[in-house]
Amino acid sequence: MADYLEPVLPGSYLGILGGGQLGRMFTQAAQAMGYKVCVLDPASDSPAGSIAEKFIQADYTDSEALKEMATLCQSVSTEFENVPAQALDELESLGVFVAPRSSCVSLAQNRVAEKNFLATWKAETNIGPAPYCVIEREADVSHVPTDLFPGILKTARMGYDGKGQITVYGMADLAPAWAELGKVPCVLEKRMDLDFEVSALVVRGYDDAVVAYPVAQNIHRDGILHTSTVPAPSLKTAQEKKIIEAAKALIRKIDYVGVLCVEFFVLKNGDIVANEIAPRPHNSGHYTMDASVSSQFEQQVRSMARLPLGDTRLLAPVSMLNLLGDLWFMGGEDRAKEPAWNQVLSHPEAKLHLYGKSDPRIGRKMGHINCLGESLNQARQSCAAVAVELGIEP
Ligand code: ADP
Ligand code: MG
Repeated sequence: MADYLEPVLPGSYLGILGGGQLGRMFTQAAQAMGYKVCVLDPASDSPAGSIAEKFIQADYTDSEALKEMATLCQSVSTEFENVPAQALDELESLGVFVAPRSSCVSLAQNRVAEKNFLATWKAETNIGPAPYCVIEREADVSHVPTDLFPGILKTARMGYDGKGQITVYGMADLAPAWAELGKVPCVLEKRMDLDFEVSALVVRGYDDAVVAYPVAQNIHRDGILHTSTVPAPSLKTAQEKKIIEAAKALIRKIDYVGVLCVEFFVLKNGDIVANEIAPRPHNSGHYTMDASVSSQFEQQVRSMARLPLGDTRLLAPVSMLNLLGDLWFMGGEDRAKEPAWNQVLSHPEAKLHLYGKSDPRIGRKMGHINCLGESLNQARQSCAAVAVELGIEP
């Protein structure tokens, strides 16, 4: 067994790879706890880089930059799941505690590895992925089992928010769809008859403690998360228990330290299917910032600093509304116009979070609002009312 490492205490630097909104909310949580933060991101101006004590602008594979980070930080985590595994390994070889480590992050970077892993995991948890097959070369296209149609062809790498996906209705559509995706490695997945979607958020500490948040129920629009509601309105208690047990088993199985999100589909027939994993805090866990004893970002800080984990208890029912750049272009104007935040904030239970991004674009995640309620219904009604203030279609 490796030597036991002491915790990294407040006052020290913590490092984060990636400067997007997840890195920013991590930075804010770390700073609230008295840490200093070093952000590494290739872009000159980023939501996290602009508020961190130290910002290194460099490519993730820039050895000099990684050395600089390693000099400052005893512990590094990632907010960007496509950070090259090589960067994480390089930091580790420089003596940095990297959480989660590269093998865990790599698993989530490639849908082929991810689906294969989820398929083996089924033996243990009774929850597997949707039926799928791998398409890597021309010959694979003609050997697809016909019961996968209608299916969804997804690129193995770099897909997010529904990008890199094409619905394929039959054999005849498959070759053109694969060509459209550039003939890169893909998985073809059977399109399932979804009743609703949920995600489990679990955290594992350096001491092997594992905690889980209540499961969130998620609604997507155009492939992008729209709302997350907790407690999950449609989920049965037994289903929630099964999902949480499965996610806890998974995080232990891959020896993961940090915050992990697992997305699931609940099918019309009640079956549960595992969709994908994210090796970091997740958009569907943003509700924890206002509605939980400890936020997912505080847990990221605690786990990477090798501290005891925080309480995951829900303080109030909550519905989170994502704020996309589209809101700046409502009413058909082509120049960005600031949404009516004053009207949103006239709902005192609505907690506004904006990520400090200067150029709103259609589909870009700009912020979110957590709507708390004394009951689940109140939280959902508040979320609906706030959406109306912003002109979002019900
Ligand atoms: P991303 O990495 O873009 O989030 P996902 O695999 O999670 O990709 O797919 C995005 C969304 O597309 C899912 O949240 C779900 O709504 C829908 N979807 C994906 N795979 C399936 C499937 N096999 N059957 C039905 N719907 C699916
Ligand atoms: Mg997804």
